[in-house]
Amino acid sequence: MLCEEDIAISLRCRQFHSNCYMRDLTEERSALLFESDQEAKDASCPHCRGKVYADGYGSVTLKDMPVWYGMAQELTFVCHRYECRQCGKKFTEEVPLRHPGTKVTDRAARWIQAMLRFKVSIRSIQELTGIHWETIRKLHSSDPAGAAAVWFFLTDH
Ligand SMILES: [Zn+2]
Repeated sequence: MLCEEDIAISLRCRQFHSNCYMRDLTEERSALLFESDQEAKDASCPHCRGKVYADGYGSVTLKDMPVWYGMAQELTFVCHRYECRQCGKKFTEEVPLRHPGTKVTDRAARWIQAMLRFKVSIRSIQELTGIHWETIRKLHSSDPAGAAAVWFFLTDH
């Protein structure tokens, strides 16, 4: 029988790589840990495009669609903190796969918007994905197809 412990992973997305898959002891969540290979010379300031130097590390965690029922799936990115040599502003390296304005992956956002179109309740989606209802509500109101469906429903009566 195939055991999850026997699976080795090696993923790469832009400057991030992962070969670490973890589950917590309660089996309520699992995570892929990504680390950045980016060097300061390849980064630039998002405010003034100036050169930067590394100023420690930060982390960003995005919720993704679960692989297993009942186990929330997360992607954790260990990313660099930088400080600009020109304007002095500090910032955290951008992470890939993020749906704009949220802490969920674009993949999860699309799944959630599709489930909402199929009239799956917000409470059920929260139960299935482990993603907070407020995020689900936000995705619902930002989905043009979902908003159109609600408009059709409202004007049909
Ligand atoms: Zn700058």
